[in-house]
Amino acid sequence: MALVVICTATLWTRTTLGESDGAVPEGVRVFDDGSPALANLDPGLRRALRQAAMDAAKDGIEIVVNSGWRSREYQKQLLRDAVAKYGSEKAAARWVATPDRSSHVSGDAVDIGPSRATAWLSKHGARYRLCQVYRNEPWHYELRRDAGNDGCPSKYADPRHDPRMQR
Ligand SMILES: [Zn+2]
Repeated sequence: MALVVICTATLWTRTTLGESDGAVPEGVRVFDDGSPALANLDPGLRRALRQAAMDAAKDGIEIVVNSGWRSREYQKQLLRDAVAKYGSEKAAARWVATPDRSSHVSGDAVDIGPSRATAWLSKHGARYRLCQVYRNEPWHYELRRDAGNDGCPSKYADPRHDPRMQR
């Protein structure tokens, strides 16, 4: 008589977040129209990003978007993950905004990579009004309409110092 071993696989239901939520596990090229992470961005930001990417390419650098627009659900999950990682909502706020305040949910921010691309953009971004907003997030860029010949506005130390993040 064969012994039947029953494997009790843990059946755990979990909301699977996909591309339609803005998830881009492998990153996405700036010119990929099919990706909701890019398609749902503010058109002005997308235009500026593409212009910058074309010029960066002339310098042999490819700008990759690791995160762009995100659904509220996706942002909620990121916040839950950050609270678990950093221990409290207050500590998590240094890195992840709530769905109501996130500039990713409103389509006004992109996280770019790799580091060669962030270095390129930190040098040339102001020309496209693409600005790093937080000193602790060298990958996070937003379109700053107040960026001018003098460059980008000064950065906040981290999102907690951003007046837009205040309750
Ligand atoms: Zn970001």
